[in-house]
Amino acid sequence: MKRRNVVVSESYLPYLWENDRIEEHEADNRTLRERLETCEDQLEQLKQQSELETEFRKRFKAIFDVDEPDGSCIAPLITGVDECPHGWPTADSYQQTPPHQPPRGTHGELWLRDGEPGAYSIHVSDLERDILAAYLDFADLHGLEVRFTAASWINPQRAVCVVFYPPEWRPE
Ligand SMILES: [Zn+2]
Repeated sequence: MKRRNVVVSESYLPYLWENDRIEEHEADNRTLRERLETCEDQLEQLKQQSELETEFRKRFKAIFDVDEPDGSCIAPLITGVDECPHGWPTADSYQQTPPHQPPRGTHGELWLRDGEPGAYSIHVSDLERDILAAYLDFADLHGLEVRFTAASWINPQRAVCVVFYPPEWRPE
């Protein structure tokens, strides 16, 4: 039998090279598709988080019958001053009289009801014993009522929203 030499014609080389390229492209596509799915999952989570934030904020406003936040100082709720008297608040400004904000927590907001200070909200991630006690002491010291609600709109499902308000007013 006559042996034939199999030689890949020069003209095929570009096609072989193309085959490699196609495999590379397919691998790239798979990676991109996986990344896209991860992004879509994250986007869905963010959307759900954003819906929760909107819902919890709406619920808070309805329960406490407040309109919009007006600054981060709690002094107007305690003493009736029009504006924050603290200038540059420091970390210990909760110890001042009147204080700028309660101890610990983040995103402190003063809320108005019919243009007057009506409630003050702050968010805290871990409501440990000493923090809980500090909030109760703070409320007692400044003649406020305090309520702890799981519906934090700053960090839904992780943080607790702590709300201070005058004892003569009761939420629904
Ligand atoms: Zn202040």
